[in-house]
Amino acid sequence: MYAKVIIEYATKELDKTFIYHVPLAMQEIIRVGMKVKVPFGHKSIYGFVLELLNDVNTEYEIKEIESIVDPDFFLNAELLKIADYLCESTLCPKITALQTLLPSSFKAKGQKSNYNYYETIIKLKPQVDVTTIKEQIKRYPGQLAIILKLEKEKAINQKLINGSSLKTLLNKNIVIAEKVQKYRINKTRGEKVKRKLTDEQEVAFQKIMGSLGQAKTFLLYGITGSGKTIVYLELIKEVLKRGQTALLLVPEILLTTQIIQTFYQEFGSQVAILHSGLSEGEKHDEYLKIQRGEVSMVVGTRSAIFAPLNNLGIIIIDEEHSSTYKQDNTPKYQAKDIASFRSTYHHCPLVLGSATPTLESKARADKGVFELVALTKRVGDAILPKVTIVDMAEEMKNKERVLSRVLQAKIKDRLAKKEQIILLLNRRGYATFVNCSNCGYTYKCPNCDITLTYHASNNNLICHYCGYLTKKEKLCPNCHEEALNYLGLGTEKLEEYMHKNFPEAQVLRMDQDTTTKKGAHERLIRDFQEEKYDILIGTQMVSKGLNFPKVTLVGVINADTSLNIPDFRSSENTFQLLNQVAGRSGRSNLPGEVIIQTFNPDNYVMDCVLKNSYDAFYNQEMRIRHSLKYPPYYYLIGVKVVGKDYAKTLTEAKKVKEYLTKEVSKDTIVLGPTTALILKFNNEYRFQIIIKYKFDAKLKMVLKDIDKMYALRNDVYIDIDINPSRI
Ligand code: ADP
Ligand code: ZN
Repeated sequence: MYAKVIIEYATKELDKTFIYHVPLAMQEIIRVGMKVKVPFGHKSIYGFVLELLNDVNTEYEIKEIESIVDPDFFLNAELLKIADYLCESTLCPKITALQTLLPSSFKAKGQKSNYNYYETIIKLKPQVDVTTIKEQIKRYPGQLAIILKLEKEKAINQKLINGSSLKTLLNKNIVIAEKVQKYRINKTRGEKVKRKLTDEQEVAFQKIMGSLGQAKTFLLYGITGSGKTIVYLELIKEVLKRGQTALLLVPEILLTTQIIQTFYQEFGSQVAILHSGLSEGEKHDEYLKIQRGEVSMVVGTRSAIFAPLNNLGIIIIDEEHSSTYKQDNTPKYQAKDIASFRSTYHHCPLVLGSATPTLESKARADKGVFELVALTKRVGDAILPKVTIVDMAEEMKNKERVLSRVLQAKIKDRLAKKEQIILLLNRRGYATFVNCSNCGYTYKCPNCDITLTYHASNNNLICHYCGYLTKKEKLCPNCHEEALNYLGLGTEKLEEYMHKNFPEAQVLRMDQDTTTKKGAHERLIRDFQEEKYDILIGTQMVSKGLNFPKVTLVGVINADTSLNIPDFRSSENTFQLLNQVAGRSGRSNLPGEVIIQTFNPDNYVMDCVLKNSYDAFYNQEMRIRHSLKYPPYYYLIGVKVVGKDYAKTLTEAKKVKEYLTKEVSKDTIVLGPTTALILKFNNEYRFQIIIKYKFDAKLKMVLKDIDKMYALRNDVYIDIDINPSRI
């Protein structure tokens, strides 16, 4: 017997299988999808079995598989199909696709460690006569206590038992020690909350229920606070009742702790979670639970879309517009596409939920490709907040740079009423650039062509792109004068401003810097929920998923940050962000208000936020996309040509453009090369070619060819992004 094995090296030129002989002793156990150790060159490496063969025809010497890494683990048929789909849709190497499906501990790779966690438990040896034993040891109270306890509890964790008495009992062969695997996360069900669905929720629920067993996609378009989560919960309950499993994706687990709690409350140990906030060991355990069929639902972020649940009954993607569902590095997959693939595979519905669907999804719903289900009202007495747009150019005339007068007044009002406030500023750090007023020197990243952000808490200057870090000196490094300016408002500086101007208020800051420690995010949310703080300052982290009944004022400090990014999706992203953060206000019976500060008050995005009209935004933006030939009217592909030498990279980029123009179908548009948004990144220059197309049967082949042409070069490489989230 022979096996085709794909090995751990993810290089484009090694993207093929190698044949190995399966030793006789392994033939009974081995199966397709298993992880094996094989000789390769002078080393032993890891790989996956992709095919088993009875006969091979080759002139090369065939070596033997050394071992099967774990006879209980293999990639099932569906995962192998998903890997093929990943290669096909993102043009990545096969081994990269396979590795992407798995958490770190299961990947095929060199370092070996055992992630399983065991506990030793103590039990009475079977068939011992307890009465006799008790008589024998009655003079030893330590030993007697253990026996009495074991009589009651059957099994006790070794850590909880007195060491020397236990040792004697083990030596006398009265008790035994047993190693058992223990999962790191163990949740139990809470008290069930009884909720009656609102009429709208009931209609949505019934519609989707009617499609269980069919591969159909729904767009659940529900305004903020309309209770989408409860609809998900009821759907999943129903699916589990039928003996099937469910998969729920959320954009970022840290931002959705409240959702996770809801699901633990309802389903307890039936839930596995998968996200980057877990330790490797926790991920390993959660994955094992899924693989062993011990859980029936998974809640997780992007990569949880690969969770090997069998018999899937429903897939739900919450906040479907979130850019986190697209992976930015290879393989550049879109979790929604994988979800659609799995929905077809399992004949189960896929639900995409959002208050601000992507234009692509809404357009598909309009065309009838997806079925639209709408929730148009907030639950209970809550009404949508009143929005005010403030022109910051006017405020600047009055020397108000940070907070407009109206926002200042409203903050005072809420503080007096003991209500809570959220302030959104989508820039972390203290100042986004530091320059010298004497000589004009500006701190810049030596590896990238952008300014460094100053973080006052640790006196660091940091590149938010490549992570380059340096300490800030007191004097200008160029002219040695004490004349450094801190420009561009960041969350740290806003926090300082609030302390100074509202000394009576308790201010909490939530951004990447205050939430790096495990559990920090949950703690901040809990503290704010328990009203230990009056004002929550934060980056887009504060815009999603949170539900604080006492928040009646939301202030957006600078709505232009995302609007000014030169990207075809910047208007859409800004609308989503503003709508989303506005939705945090007035979620209970207290009426909410939103103040948006901007230098572009006449921009149509602001107008649509003001009118609270997704439809108005959608119609306007669709017209623009149509005239500029952007999605959803055209598909996009970004081809980056990257290299260390500016001139050489540009020359190659021009060659790639020429080749593309020649080879693709004549209705396909090839633009560029232009410099990428950040031209120099990590000491490499990046030129971008943009392809816009509707149908082009040849295109993927042409791109694969280009990829191959450059695979063996070490001066310039090609980076292809199909349906990029930004361009
Ligand atoms: P969305 O995700 O659509 O913004 P949520 O699912 O967070 O909204 O729901 C908003 C609030 O309304 C939550 O506190 C939720 O518990 C509550 N809620 C939703 N549906 C119901 C219902 N049918 N009965 C009572 N409360 C509900
Ligand atoms: Zn940098």
